[in-house]
Amino acid sequence: MDCSICESKNVEIKFNITSDRQILCCLSCGVEFLFPQLNEEELTKLYSENYYHAWGIKGEEENETTKKMKMATFQLRLNLIKQFVKKGRVLDVGCATGYFLEAAKENGFEPFGVELSEYSSNISKKKFGAETIFCGTLEQCNFSAKSFDVIAMSDLIEHVRIPSQTLSKAANLLKEDGVIMIMTPDTKTLFNNLMGKRWTHYKLEHFFYFSFSSMHYLAKQCGLKVVHYERSKKALTINYLHTQLNTYKHWLFTPLINSLHAMLPKKFVERIFYFSIGEMVVLLKADK
Ligand SMILES: [Zn+2]
Repeated sequence: MDCSICESKNVEIKFNITSDRQILCCLSCGVEFLFPQLNEEELTKLYSENYYHAWGIKGEEENETTKKMKMATFQLRLNLIKQFVKKGRVLDVGCATGYFLEAAKENGFEPFGVELSEYSSNISKKKFGAETIFCGTLEQCNFSAKSFDVIAMSDLIEHVRIPSQTLSKAANLLKEDGVIMIMTPDTKTLFNNLMGKRWTHYKLEHFFYFSFSSMHYLAKQCGLKVVHYERSKKALTINYLHTQLNTYKHWLFTPLINSLHAMLPKKFVERIFYFSIGEMVVLLKADK
């Protein structure tokens, strides 16, 4: 099995994630990846409407606390993006039901999105207009080359089958001085080291796990360079963690959050905190 990022043959098994699937690690570029990847049928099942129940979204009715929390996280990202690009057209890849685009619009950007799920893309289309949202993959979309000032990919690159293909397409859609923002789990974090295979980001729908060095390698391959890297913070509430950890059960954190949730007053479980939960935010620009 060759590394699908740098093509090195220097790949070893890190551990078995299930009886028939492993997490492999490339000793050359440092990327980790799931092998074998889930097939289309397995993925469709996972990404169906039920997936969004973990976010506290059921049907078209949005949970206000989830929304407030997501918007607060996206405002952090937009503050960072605005240090590089102040206005223009924003494309959110994997825009889901459009929270990031709502925040981008509030910050004076013009919103566009790509979303694989028909269910979520329809919600986004209602918010921003059918012509601004493409239902499908980034590779399939028909937006013009060099037409976006900002391309955002939050919790996206770890889900795609061939990251270099997705990122090359993004590079193609980006204006000369535009910026690509990627948020993804970071393997070089304390949590990852402490928890090993129990790290919360090791999930069957996550095909790739990056670190600064493997992200740097991927960017270079796609004609891009990293202009900013940070450990990302997310806005979270105890309520949200409670829902998440009872959907994706964890041996230590689920009982812990259940006790906290039962113990704390209602006002407190809905208060927003900023946590770093083992993810990175990188900004990329064309490597001229
Ligand atoms: Zn590699």
